[in-house]
Order: sequence, then C-alpha cells, then structure tokens
Amino acid sequence: MPAFRSEIICRRCGLTPDKTEFTRWKHLCRRCAADESLIRFRKLDADPAWHKAKVDKVYASRRNKTDRYLLNAAKYRAKKLGLDFSITVDDVKVPVACPVLGILLAVCSKQSANSPTIDRFDNSIGYVPGNVHVISWRANSLKNNATIDELEKVLAYMKSKLGKSAQ
Ligand SMILES: [Zn+2]
Repeated sequence: MPAFRSEIICRRCGLTPDKTEFTRWKHLCRRCAADESLIRFRKLDADPAWHKAKVDKVYASRRNKTDRYLLNAAKYRAKKLGLDFSITVDDVKVPVACPVLGILLAVCSKQSANSPTIDRFDNSIGYVPGNVHVISWRANSLKNNATIDELEKVLAYMKSKLGKSAQ
C-alpha cells in the first residue's frame, strides 16, 4: 500500500487540492486540468500543423522503439485480461519480416496486415518469457486462438472448396 503523500501540489496553480480533486494527468488539480485540456483543444483546432507534428512524433516513436511500444500495448492487454505478464523489452524481438508469412513488418498509423504484433504462442498462458513472438497482424489474426487441430480442419475445408471450384 502506497504511503499517503501529503505534499500533493498542483503544478499549475500551486495549491494543494483535496486528494479527490487531484488528477493524475500532468499532476494538476481538476480545475487546472479542465483549463489545460480546453487550451489544448483550442490549439488543436487553431493549429493543425501543431497537431500533425504531435501525431507524427507519436508514430516516429512507435517506429523507432517498436519493441517498447509493443511491450506497453501487451502490458495493457495483460492487465485488462488478467493475464500473467513477466516479459521485458529483451523478450520482444522485432524481426524485419513476419516469421510466419514472410511479409515485411512495418509500423503505420493504421493497423494493417504487416503491422507487428506480439503473439502468445500458447494462448492458455500469458506474456511470459519464451511464449511471445513478434509476428504480423495478419498472421496473428489468422491464428487467433485456434488450435492446430482446428486450423487443420479449416485448411482441409479450404482445400476441398478450392478443389471443387477449380474443376
Ligand atoms: Zn490547480
């Protein structure tokens, strides 16, 4: 349990608000946070170039530190789904190409077939060392949580359909 911090001070107005009036965003009190977000929204409208520069910065960071970005996203998912999470950035090896499909991996603003994703090899366990591989979003979505048996059946079905249409 964290110790009570009596030195809570809003970084904008310098006052010490009640604990419930304090937001975690930028260490501001609720009132200052509201003011700040309003200023930010106005700036966003008034200065599209400023906004674009902000967005570009986020994607540049995702491209440059893809492993960290994937790790953070996995951490968030693990928390949400209640999965074990004990991997570090060293467990997230981002290859040039998807090891499953061979397509080049690329971080874009939108999720696409060749976006890198962390796959949990065994879906019954969490993000633990040895169970994670970086594969393309396409390969990950095809695999999803399927078992080998299920995928073999899907494959057999697809081949049989192809066989009929080809004749
Ligand atoms: Zn304040």
